[in-house]
Amino acid sequence: MAVPTQRHTKSRRNKRRMHIFLRTPVFVKCSKCGRAILPHQVCPHCGYYKGVEVIDVLKKLSEKEKKKKRKEMKLKEAEQAKEGRGPLSLSKLSRSS
Ligand SMILES: [Zn+2]
Repeated sequence: MAVPTQRHTKSRRNKRRMHIFLRTPVFVKCSKCGRAILPHQVCPHCGYYKGVEVIDVLKKLSEKEKKKKRKEMKLKEAEQAKEGRGPLSLSKLSRSS
């Protein structure tokens, strides 16, 4: 078995470990519901990506949970409408480019 010829100092060890640390993840705001989500990924809260519904988030929920979620989503949309930026529509997207 290979045996180290010389002991490494604390300094050398710490320098080696200099790049080992956790980074804080980057978040962006969902264009549909406004929650913090990871960029370039489908929003897990509303199932939308680039203004198009990709996942039906209500599918797996029970009736009681569905009702609660629908109410929550309506509230968020109303909040966004107040701010003056409603949900993205395809016509709006095509006009801007
Ligand atoms: Zn969302």
